[in-house]
Amino acid sequence: MTEIGYYDFHVHIGEKTSGHDLADDFGDLRRLTERQPNPENPPLLGIGAFVTERPDESLSDTYQRMNQKAARDFGKAVQWHLTPIKATVEELYPLLEQGADLKLYTTYRQAGLYSSYEKIGQWMSELSDLKTRILVHCEDDLIVERSSEQFSFRQSFDHSLRRPEIAEDKAVGMVLNLAVKHQHPVHIVHVSSPVSALLIKEAKRSFAGITCETAPQYLLFNEERLREKDAHRYLCTPPYRKESSRGKLVELLQDGIFDILASDHCSFPDELKDSYKDDLPKLPQGIAGVVTLYTSIYESLVKSGKISLQQLVDLTLINPKELMQGMQIS
Ligand SMILES: [Zn+2]
Repeated sequence: MTEIGYYDFHVHIGEKTSGHDLADDFGDLRRLTERQPNPENPPLLGIGAFVTERPDESLSDTYQRMNQKAARDFGKAVQWHLTPIKATVEELYPLLEQGADLKLYTTYRQAGLYSSYEKIGQWMSELSDLKTRILVHCEDDLIVERSSEQFSFRQSFDHSLRRPEIAEDKAVGMVLNLAVKHQHPVHIVHVSSPVSALLIKEAKRSFAGITCETAPQYLLFNEERLREKDAHRYLCTPPYRKESSRGKLVELLQDGIFDILASDHCSFPDELKDSYKDDLPKLPQGIAGVVTLYTSIYESLVKSGKISLQQLVDLTLINPKELMQGMQIS
């Protein structure tokens, strides 16, 4: 019997992010795993989740705590993505040896998450024996900084101007060069720019260890959504792109450029977001997505014939399952 279900390789859950607790924890996902095996609304079979180093605890202690909670409250496969702030390769080695990924960011300097391109290359050198997969959030910090100086953050729509596609394209190009140079596995998260997607397609010809994901929000919405009422609730990074980019991204999905679909689920309560609506630079960003990752694409792109059901199954079950072969619990 063919397996029915989906994986979401990119879920922020059970952590503090942007200084606030996320809206949900591992136990909240259990009901998704208990869905009947219906191909229109299948059960969740596993997730990729993040452990970010905190100032008050070692990364491995935080990992142990979250891993126990996930085993107890979620009970399905988890692929762990670790974000070190100060931790060294030596400290992380036991976890990386078991198959955890690294997750690095080329932006978010203020939050302490930023890694320079040089630093990313250094991780690749130091992990040349393990070949630990590195997930990278690609937005060139200098371009983001300059654009943010140019456009102040008064309305939700400004977000798209402050974090333009060229920032993503620049960082994706730089990280791909490093991956090819070091022949080191890299996974580019939440690709929202068609130029970036084409750069990835090209780089894959030089090195097969490159994979990437895009998310429903970049396929189904454009930046005009940020002019709607309560648009501050939809702010996420990268921001929604212009309609021509969204359209091209769907074409690239049809052409099979993306390995997987993943949601970048990062949910905060609306009341919390509303309390920052007049102070947009401080608003905790991120949108919910793990519940609707499969169904939103099924309803909009499969039913309309833009992609086949098999393509959706490849993007949400077959391919992510292969990426989840590292460290898992069940
Ligand atoms: Zn994310």
